[in-house]
Amino acid sequence: MSALGNGKKYRAGVLGATGMVGQRIVNMLANHPWFELTAVAASERSMGKTYAQATRWHLETPIPQAARGLVVKDLEPSLDCDFVFSALDSSVAGEAESAFARAGYPVMSNSKNHRMDPDVPLLIPEVNASHINAIPVQQRNQKYDSGFIVTNPNCSTAGLVLVLKPLADAFGLEKLFVVTMQAVSGAGYPGVPSMDALGNIVPFIGGEEEKMESEPQKLLGKWDGNRFIDAGLGISAHCNRVPVVNGHVECVSVRLKKTATIEEVKDALRNFEVSDELASLPTALKNPVVVRDEDDRPQPRKDSDLGHGMAGVVGRVRECPLFDVKITLLSHNLVRGAAGAAVLNAELLAARGFLKSRATQGSHANEVLTRG
Ligand code: NAP
Repeated sequence: MSALGNGKKYRAGVLGATGMVGQRIVNMLANHPWFELTAVAASERSMGKTYAQATRWHLETPIPQAARGLVVKDLEPSLDCDFVFSALDSSVAGEAESAFARAGYPVMSNSKNHRMDPDVPLLIPEVNASHINAIPVQQRNQKYDSGFIVTNPNCSTAGLVLVLKPLADAFGLEKLFVVTMQAVSGAGYPGVPSMDALGNIVPFIGGEEEKMESEPQKLLGKWDGNRFIDAGLGISAHCNRVPVVNGHVECVSVRLKKTATIEEVKDALRNFEVSDELASLPTALKNPVVVRDEDDRPQPRKDSDLGHGMAGVVGRVRECPLFDVKITLLSHNLVRGAAGAAVLNAELLAARGFLKSRATQGSHANEVLTRG
């Protein structure tokens, strides 16, 4: 079964393929049923080398065979692929992603640059799939033809909002207070100097608190056909870098709109189930929130890889003397917070007919919408 029929898959390019997030995307594409990796791009440092030569590979499994020999290209929007993932450093992502969209490529971005644009979906399929309806408006506003940009949220926002979604649906959310403990891989490579990270906590991550206070408003808000309407939540965030390799932990206190017992809150989290359409996407989980009952979970080393890194793992669900309920949550920053999020977004767009084969665009448009 494939995305395109005839045994063909959508051809994917990865911008920033050599970085921490890019490598994860390359790895996730290795055996993907709908997508195949056909192009990689990065900086001048890597350009012209093979992917294996250019990349300081951080995963435990070897570099996928299909990626090893690909020659790394620059950011010219002329890659041999149907759509691109962007895992570019934010210093170059904004302009490069716009250029690819202008040249007709759908762009699945991990970077902050376009997340809050008024016509760009900031997407978590389990939370706000209907926001992809903004794409035709974006194409009209920006004069894009078949290209467009869709973004995933910042890595700490991704886990937080996934876990808040069932509470928002069941009880409504009024305000929340969140303190993060964020892994060093969230800063890319080489990231935080070891002299700062080891045996230490750094109580500052540039721009992170602002992102955590603004992105959930868009994610949990609505697309009204013309514009995004914020959720109007009160949010206060404290963000800290801690000496953990992968997995962001967040301690959250929430004020609900409707009164709920702790058991009702646990049930809402535990029973959070996505639609059959979403559950059929290759990277999706039917129940993306996992509740742990042990007093000392979730823990990054033990729980980050739950659900292949796509789960929001919740523990310590208890009463809050100031708000209503407090929880501790964990999510894999490089998977749920980045690579897996972008791949899932692309799968939703493929399933909804937003991706096309660039080779067959126009004449065979209907054929390429058929998903096996
Ligand atoms: P990273 O490890 O520093 O990788 C950055 C990538 O961008 C590399 O492939 C690098 O290529 C490329 N690049 C840098 N400067 C460039 C230039 N001037 N022209 C072309 N390519 C250039 O960073 P990362 O952690 O993977 O993050 C990538 C993006 O995802 C960032 O925008 C980040 O904010 C976002 N993000 C990261 C996480 C996370 O947990 N790490 C989570 C969510 C979102 P070279 O190898 O050739 O230098």
